Amino acid sequence: MKTFEKILLKNMEQPGYAGSLAEYERAGGYQALKKVLGRVPPADVIDTVKQSGLRGRGGAGFPTGVKWSFIPRDHPGPRYLCCNADESEPGTFKDRQLMERDPHQILEGMAIACYAIGAQTAYIYIRGEFRLAATILERAIVEAGRAGHLGADIHGSGVTVNVYVHAGAGAYICGEETALLESLEGKRGKPRTKPPFPATHGLYQQPTVVNNVETLANIPHIINRGGAWYAAIGVPPKSPGTRIFCLSGHVKRPGNYELPVDATFRDLIDDLGGGMRSDKPLKAFIPGGASAPFLTPEHLDVQLDFESVARAGSMSGSGGVTVMEDGTSMVWAALRLMEFFYHESCGKCTPCREGSAWIVQILQRILNRQGRPDDVRTLEDICGNIGGRTVCAFGDAEIAPVQSTLKYWRSEYEALIAEAGALNAGRKDIPVLSVS
Ligand code: SF4
Repeated sequence: MKTFEKILLKNMEQPGYAGSLAEYERAGGYQALKKVLGRVPPADVIDTVKQSGLRGRGGAGFPTGVKWSFIPRDHPGPRYLCCNADESEPGTFKDRQLMERDPHQILEGMAIACYAIGAQTAYIYIRGEFRLAATILERAIVEAGRAGHLGADIHGSGVTVNVYVHAGAGAYICGEETALLESLEGKRGKPRTKPPFPATHGLYQQPTVVNNVETLANIPHIINRGGAWYAAIGVPPKSPGTRIFCLSGHVKRPGNYELPVDATFRDLIDDLGGGMRSDKPLKAFIPGGASAPFLTPEHLDVQLDFESVARAGSMSGSGGVTVMEDGTSMVWAALRLMEFFYHESCGKCTPCREGSAWIVQILQRILNRQGRPDDVRTLEDICGNIGGRTVCAFGDAEIAPVQSTLKYWRSEYEALIAEAGALNAGRKDIPVLSVS
C-alpha cells in the first residue's frame, strides 16, 4: 500500500494527544477560522469547499460546498447549521472517535461552516447513547468560547456562532436529516416529505444545512491548505480526499482506519486489518454500513471511492466495512440486519413498516427449517414493493441485505427450504412464527 498523509486522525495518533484546546491549538488548530473570519468573504469560503470536491461522509455523499451554496443569502430570518452526530448505522463508529478524541476539529469546522452560510446558531444532534462524546463536546464548547473561538464577536470579527449539543433518544431514523430536524424541534423523529428541502425549509422552517461529523472535521484542513490540495487526494474529481473506514467483523485488527479513497478493500482488510482472524477465508463483506448491499471476495480489489463501489453493485455509504468469514450463514446475516431495520422503521409508510416485519417473519421461518417453497419468490416480491416506494431512503436500505444475499448466496436459502421440505414432509401442523 502506498504511503499517504492522514488528515483527520493525525492529531489523535500523536502520543499523549487528548484533544484539549491547548493541544489542538499547538497542532495548528483554529488557524483556519482566524484565516477566514472577516477576511475571506463567505461566498469565497463556499467556493473553496466546492473546489475541494468534499462529499458528505454520512452516507449519501452529496457535495458539501454545493449544499452550502443552496442556502439563500437574502433570507431575512435565521439560518441554522446542524451537525449530524446521530451515528447509528450498524458497523459504523468513526464519528464517535472523532468527537471523543479531537472535538475541536469538529467545532472549528462548524464555526467556519456557520460563517460561510451566515448561521449564528448550530446544533450538534448526537446519538443519545454517546454520553461520553456529548460531555466531551460540551466541555470543548465551553473551552472554545472562553478562548474566543465561539460565541459573540469571535476574535473581534463581529461574527457570532453559538453551538449547542442536543442528545437524541436512540432512534436510528433520526440520522435521516429531516427526521433529525423534527426531533430537534421536539417532535417525534419521522422523516419529512421532500421537497421542500432543508436548504430552504429546515429547522423551524428556516434555511438549514445538515452535515455529518466527519464532513465538518475536514473543513479546517481544506481552508488551511486549499481546495486544490484536497481535490488532488484520492480519486479526483468525483471522490477526492481521505475517509475513515470502520473495519469490523472477522478480521485480526478491527478499528477505524483513515486512508485515501483510491486504496482498495484488500488494502483495508488485509494490510491494515491484518486479514482474516482465523484460517477461514473471506466469504462476504458489507462495504458501507448495514444499508449497503453485500460484496464478495471478487470485489476485494475494488477502490474505496463512491463510484467504484457503486459500479461493483453496492455503496460506500457511511464507511462501515463488516467482514464475514467462510461458514457464516448469509440467511442468518440477512435476518440479523433485517431485525435491526424492522425495529428501527419509524412506521410512517406502509411498505417499510409492514414489509420489514414480513421479511423478518419469512427469514425466521426459513432458518427454523419451516421455509416454504415459494418463500424466495415472496421475499423478492416484498423487496420489489418496498424499494423506491417509501418516504425516505430507509426503504431502499432495508432491502439491501436480502436482495444482495439472494443475488450471491441464493443456494443457501434454497438449501434451507429444501431441508424444511424434507423434515416436514407430511406434517400439517407447522407453527406460524410471530415477529417479536
Ligand atoms: Fe419511516 Fe421507513 Fe417510511 Fe422512512 S421508509 S419514513 S423509516 S416508514
